[in-house]
Formats: sequence, C-alpha cells, structure tokens
Amino acid sequence: MMETTNIHILGGGPAGLTTGYYAKKHGFPNFTIFEAGEHPGGNCRTLKIKGADCRSDTKQSGDFRFDTGAHRFHDKDPQVTEEVKNLLGDNLLHVTAPSEIFFQGKFYRFPLLLSDLIQKLEMKTLLKIAWEKLYSKQEKQAQNFAEFAVNQYGKTLAEHFLLNYSEKLWGQPTHKLSTAITGNRLKGLDLRSFLRSVILGTPQNPNHLDGSFFYPKYGIGMISDKLCEFIGEKHIKLQHRVNRLIHKNGKIERIIVNKGTDTLGSTDAQNDIEIPASIVINTLPLTLSMRMLEPAPPPELCEVADTIKYRHLVLCVFCLNRDAFSSNASLYFPSKEFPFTRLYEPKNRSPHMAPKGQTVIVLELPCYSDDALWNMSEATLQAEVWEALRQVKPLFPEEIIHYQSYKLPFAYPVLEVGFEEKVASLVAYFETFENLYLTGRSSLFRYLHLHDLFKAGKEVVEQITDD
Ligand SMILES: Cc1cc2nc3c(=O)[nH]c(=O)nc-3n(C[C@H](O)[C@H](O)[C@H](O)COP(=O)(O)OP(=O)(O)OC[C@H]3O[C@@H](n4cnc5c(N)ncnc54)[C@H](O)[C@@H]3O)c2cc1C
Repeated sequence: MMETTNIHILGGGPAGLTTGYYAKKHGFPNFTIFEAGEHPGGNCRTLKIKGADCRSDTKQSGDFRFDTGAHRFHDKDPQVTEEVKNLLGDNLLHVTAPSEIFFQGKFYRFPLLLSDLIQKLEMKTLLKIAWEKLYSKQEKQAQNFAEFAVNQYGKTLAEHFLLNYSEKLWGQPTHKLSTAITGNRLKGLDLRSFLRSVILGTPQNPNHLDGSFFYPKYGIGMISDKLCEFIGEKHIKLQHRVNRLIHKNGKIERIIVNKGTDTLGSTDAQNDIEIPASIVINTLPLTLSMRMLEPAPPPELCEVADTIKYRHLVLCVFCLNRDAFSSNASLYFPSKEFPFTRLYEPKNRSPHMAPKGQTVIVLELPCYSDDALWNMSEATLQAEVWEALRQVKPLFPEEIIHYQSYKLPFAYPVLEVGFEEKVASLVAYFETFENLYLTGRSSLFRYLHLHDLFKAGKEVVEQITDD
C-alpha cells in the first residue's frame, strides 16, 4: 500500500520538511515537497553574508550569518528534542544568553524581574504599580489582550512593557487582539509571581524565556538543512509554486504547479504542470489556499477568509566592525519611537555567526503588505532604522561593513478576538476533502513553533498510515 501511495506536500518550510522527514522515516517511497522559493526552510532559515562580499577594507575573514528572525529551539517536547539532538549531534549548542527590554533610555531584564524594576523605575512609578496591584478589583475573565495584560500586571506595567509592544508587533489595538497572542509565554510572569519569587526565592520564569535554550552552531537553518539532507534532494522540488487545487466529488483531483517561478513570484503559465493528486498535505497559508481551490469555496467562506490577516516582517541587517553590540539574545523595543520591535545579535546565540572581532545585528520591523514600510526603498529604510538605533547606543557610520534588508512574509497569524471560530470554519471546509490534510503555522493559523511542527508532521504521517 505504501509503495503505491503518492504524497504531495505543499510548501517546503519547517512544516513541509518535518512532514517529509516522517514520511521517509515511516517508509513512504513516493512523496514530493513543492516549494515556491529557491531554498527550502520557509521562515526558519539562516542566511549567509560572505565576509569577502563586504567592504574590502575589513581585515577579518569569515562569514556573517543571521536567521530569518530571532529563533531558538524550545525544549518543550522530550521526544522532539531527542529527534533534533540526533539530527544535529554536536552542532546543537546549549546557550545561556539573557534578553532585555529597552525602555525610556534604560535596559530592563526580560522577563521582568521585580528587583530590576525597583532599581530602574522611578519611585512614583513603583508606587503606582504597587497601588494598582493592591487595589485592583478582581477581575472578570479577560475578553481581549488589553484586559488580560491590565488584569495580570496592572495598568502602568502593562502600558510600559506590553500594550505598546503588542500594538507594534500585531498592528492592531490591543483590545482587538485575542488573549491567545501570549502563546502562554507570559504564564507565571504576573506581579504576584514576582513577589512570590522574591519572597520565597523560587524561580519566576517559564523555562523558554529564562535565557537558556538550544541553538544550532551555524544558525537555526541547520535544522531545516539536516531535515533536507535526510529527506533527499529528489523529494524536494524547489521553484515549484502551487497555483491551483482542482477538486471534484470531495477530493483534490489535480494540483497545478508552476515550475521555475522567478524571484519576484511572477509566473509564466507555459510552465504550468498538472499533477494528479493522491494524498495532499497542505502547509500553505489558509487564505492563499482558499484562493487556490477550483471550483471556488462558498462565497460566505471566502468572506470569512478575507477577514483574517497575517503579519509580515522586514528585517534590517547590519554587519558591524565592532566586537559586540550587546550581550543579549534579544532586545525588545516597546516604545513607538522605534520602528522595530526586536533586535537580535546572532553571535550571542553562537559565536560562529560572525567573524572574530565583528558582529551582525538584525532588527525586526513588523508590517502588513500594504504598509509603506513593506515597499520602502533600501536607502530610506536603512537611514530610518540607523537613526533610531543610534538612540540605543553610540554607533558610527564607519562601523557599517554591510547592510541589507530581507522580507519575511506570513511571519505571524494575527490572532484577533474571535479568530478561533473563523479559522475553525475554514479548517472544517478543508477537512471535507478526503485526501487533503493541513499542517503548519500559516495553514492552521496557529502560533506554532518548530517543536510543534515536528510533532504535527509526525501526527499527520501517522494519520495517513492509519487511514
Ligand atoms: C520572527 C520569527 C521568530 C520565530 N522564532 C521562533 C523560535 O524562536 N522558535 C521556534 O520554534 N519557532 C519560531 N518561529 C516560528 C517558526 O519559524 C515557524 O513556526 C515556521 O517557520 C513555520 O513553518 P511553516 O512551514 O508552517 O511555514 P513557513 O515557514 O512560512 O513556510 C511556508 C513555505 O511555503 C512556501 N510557499 C508559500 N506559497 C507557496 C506556494 N504557492 N507553492 C509552494 N510553496 C509555497 C514558502 O516559500 C515557505 O517556504 C519564529 C517565526 C518568526 C517569523
């Protein structure tokens, strides 16, 4: 049965690759991953800037490496961690690097620490925070993220460190955002837990935020690279953009794929190939997949699909002729005066990410595709970001060895209040196709991480085996 089963996996990001990995492990000989881009790995890649491509007067040799956004591998699922350790061997480093928040000219520990706040915040602010906590009425169940943050932290702390930040990240007022945007990351970080940890000396931080984590020696993309190695080249078709899914009688009958898509994503219909579908595993964004279906889905579902959004990121990358910018894994910027939400310095995760004596920093600027930022010229973008960056630490233009930006589409599903029902109705529609399975962050519209995708890939392959 396995010999005759043909599996088509749409998308070569981590979701597609983990699915391919388990398909191979389960002994399926016939499976193909279709990836639109020139490289596999989706939003979880490591890019390399060759030292030699940079300014010729730098004396250092070696390459700069940066990930497509600040990534770490979360040790959340022992089986998945074991799998990743086996894949990477000695290349998986255990790293300890703290993170901080830059707010009103000062650096605060992240996750917030009471002792740190006491040292750095003004007395009147501290009194306000204590007052808000002591006299806060408790608290109906939060209906949105704004209510959740104020319930947990009190108004002042929430405004300082959470609400502005979240508005910048998601591009929506926080009363429109679901409490699900925390992804459980703020669990145990409320003011009561601060006090408990200070009085009892117990650790306050959920383990994936405390500054200790796994990270591959040459960047997070090593995980995708190792998955590809295991899967084998012949199963991965790059520059194969899936354009249409033709269905009939509750089955996906054919997949139309455009071969040789150019870097701008424009396609020449002459290069379309038609593939009879047997089993289809779709990791592509839910909204995109709706538009691919032929015949089109019911109009009321298309309307629902039009109301859900994804947030994109522009990354601004500076290679600098200085040993380090900071010692942090990540630095967060809640204030609106900074166009970026986060700065990350790859070298603080692995020393192999930059040449000796030099560093690279990556700034994340969230936006929608119709924002000016998404289409801004390189020169304007660089100038704006550089100007803001210089408010954080003294920096000199002559330190810039190389600059480039990088666009990361579909970085985050925007979890607005009420998104669950909308997504459930769309997913339920896809589930009516008997040979179609969904997995992946954008396809399921869930805030999934790498370890979740390993698990999901395994589950979907097991489901196919059972079916
Ligand atoms: C800034 C940032 C930080 C993150 N940090 C972490 C972290 O610290 N730890 C962690 O575990 N996870 C982290 N993640 C999450 C992780 O990167 C994602 O969960 C993961 O990339 C999602 O994988 P995916 O395959 O579902 O989607 P994607 O990575 O989006 O991959 C989808 C793939 O489909 C391809 N595609 C799109 N359209 C088509 C088409 N028509 N035909 C064929 N192919 C197509 C795309 O080119 C892409 O390769 C982070 C994500 C971001 C954005």
